[in-house]
Amino acid sequence: MPKVVSRSAVSSSTDARPTASSTAALRVYYCICGEFILVIDKSLTALPRRQTDGATVIRCQDSADAKARVFKLNATPKEPILVERQGGHEKQYRFHCPRCALPVAYQSTPPPAKSGPFLYIFKGALSQIQGQVPPDAFEDEKLLSDSTIA
Ligand SMILES: [Zn+2]
Repeated sequence: MPKVVSRSAVSSSTDARPTASSTAALRVYYCICGEFILVIDKSLTALPRRQTDGATVIRCQDSADAKARVFKLNATPKEPILVERQGGHEKQYRFHCPRCALPVAYQSTPPPAKSGPFLYIFKGALSQIQGQVPPDAFEDEKLLSDSTIA
């Protein structure tokens, strides 16, 4: 069991970040098989989702009104596939877990990752810790009172 660190003295203001070294700003995500897949500078739960399939949208390139996320994807590119969508088809260049080969992400442009404006993480593909609920699971912006960590 992970050691649960009580943060009972912390107020429930919007800034719920821990005191923390700079690495605490980075989030690490794993495939359900436990393989390391993604490290990123923001929680996936705080990123937008694609309406079509619920995939999490990671911005790869700066635009006029938004900055690209800083992240690294550890996954194996595969041949593109065509996905049926309402009103046509969509080409997906998928990335698979290097260990169990489950698809974890895709983009609309050929590899490497970040060659297009967005990378999409399949809904439910990644977990923030290898088979356990992490001690910092309650740090996310949208959560929560400390009373849930008893
Ligand atoms: Zn895997």
